[in-house]
Amino acid sequence: LLLPVRRALLSVSDKTGLTELGRVLIAQGAEILSTGGSAKTLRDGGLPVTEVSDHTGFPEILDGRVKTLVPQIHGGILGRRDLPEHVEQMAAHGIVPIDLIAVNLYPFEATVASGASDDNCIENIDIGGPALIRAAAKNHAHVAVLTDPSQYAMIIAAVSEGGTTLETRRILAGEAYARTAAYDAAIAAWFAEKRGDILPERFTMAGQRHEVLRYGENPLQKAAFYIDGSNRPGVATARQIQGKALSYNNLNDTDAAFEAVAEFEAPAVVIVKHANPCGVATAATYAHAWDHALRCDPVSAFGGIVALNGILDEETAAKIATIFTEVIVATDATDAAKEIVARKKNLRLLLTGGLPDPTAEGLIVRSVAGGFLAQTRDNGRVNASTLKVVTRRVPTADEMQDLLFAFRVAKHVKSNAIVYAKDGATVGIGAGQMSRVDSARIAVSKSKEAARALGLEGPLTKGSVAASDAFFPFADGLETIISAGTTAVIQPGGSIRDNEVIAAADAAGIAMVFTGMRHFRH
Ligand code: 5GP
Repeated sequence: LLLPVRRALLSVSDKTGLTELGRVLIAQGAEILSTGGSAKTLRDGGLPVTEVSDHTGFPEILDGRVKTLVPQIHGGILGRRDLPEHVEQMAAHGIVPIDLIAVNLYPFEATVASGASDDNCIENIDIGGPALIRAAAKNHAHVAVLTDPSQYAMIIAAVSEGGTTLETRRILAGEAYARTAAYDAAIAAWFAEKRGDILPERFTMAGQRHEVLRYGENPLQKAAFYIDGSNRPGVATARQIQGKALSYNNLNDTDAAFEAVAEFEAPAVVIVKHANPCGVATAATYAHAWDHALRCDPVSAFGGIVALNGILDEETAAKIATIFTEVIVATDATDAAKEIVARKKNLRLLLTGGLPDPTAEGLIVRSVAGGFLAQTRDNGRVNASTLKVVTRRVPTADEMQDLLFAFRVAKHVKSNAIVYAKDGATVGIGAGQMSRVDSARIAVSKSKEAARALGLEGPLTKGSVAASDAFFPFADGLETIISAGTTAVIQPGGSIRDNEVIAAADAAGIAMVFTGMRHFRH
């Protein structure tokens, strides 16, 4: 059963596609009601329009705050055509039915994002628009509601064929409420931010579906990628230059890799597998950083995600392309690098246009049964001046540089995290173990394998420094690290057995510094 459009109300802030929509409605014999700016656009397009103020006999007042908030409009939208009482009441008050509305809201989100004044933001809170949208969506049995120009083509096709189906109107109604909910969520978030309340009593997240994914973490799980509109450089803003569609796991790993690589100022490369780095290095060039990151664990790097904190160049692209890689993410790429990557059809290349600020504030959300946990980002950083040397031996300048590097890497390794580093590159990473000693051991045994693959004697950890994401509850974890040949250790400190741990370090003659800052990551 098709519902024809005899009367439509068009009141849009984004005038895209408005005239085309109006033209088809007129061609189908509909009358168009419209508000000031929208009516002008339609008239400029040569279309006959009735101003809402002429229709109601009541002018737009209060700088447009009250335009359509009148019974003739809301009655015309909300009246039930199937109830004689409604039909009679409408007739008694001279209210005629409205069968379609196209409304998109004052650009509140964009106004806030542009850094406008509070007054300007408040003036961009649309009142009449959401009222129209919610009314039409409620009465979708008789009214079609459009909230975005992307819906016009579909409705133009339907109207040209005689009208809309109930099924279509029901879909549009759901989209309409999702839009007003997101709009109000943005307004609520703005008020919360204004009063510095980052974790408000009521927390609403708005997300726009960016992409439906083939499946989730496993093929039996459905998944989609939503973006929150914050425009934080990374997976949400990235342009995919080439390669297969990204999977859920690809996106998760790419995010982990890019957030980690953004920690470093010098050219840096991070290789990630299963959301954990398996090689991280900084160097004078990306090609060197890649070589050093790869040596850490060349076995795990197979099928990995590679992140650069700058522009992918030809030499680095050629090196990465020799190993099976799922994704390369960088801020940009040279044309020559793009050509090299293009030879690997499936390899995805993502360019983000910028780096996220690791010290920026923000919220992280994860779901738990019956709710979700929200926390501010781990935007903490340590520097040489805030470290406390707790051993007799003081780290050398070179050791200090590697200690700070290793601790930054540890922040991006799942707990328990132990990271060995030397000369600005990781040489052993132990991740995600339930015991800290196991993480320390695993890193060393992987480092031995890497050394064997490189034809070197002994583990790469010999002469390295080590970072721990949290304190050592006992001296055994530190002893494992010492036996791996490390010369300096960085860790938060704060265990009740710190004295035993410090004594073990002194007995071995290594240097140890406390950060006072923990970097758990689960
Ligand atoms: P126009 O550009 O046509 O003058 O205004 C269109 C905008 O006005 C749309 O964004 C629509 O949501 C909004 N609007 C329609 N009626 C009202 C109202 O009564 N009050 C307010 N504040 N906005 C309205």
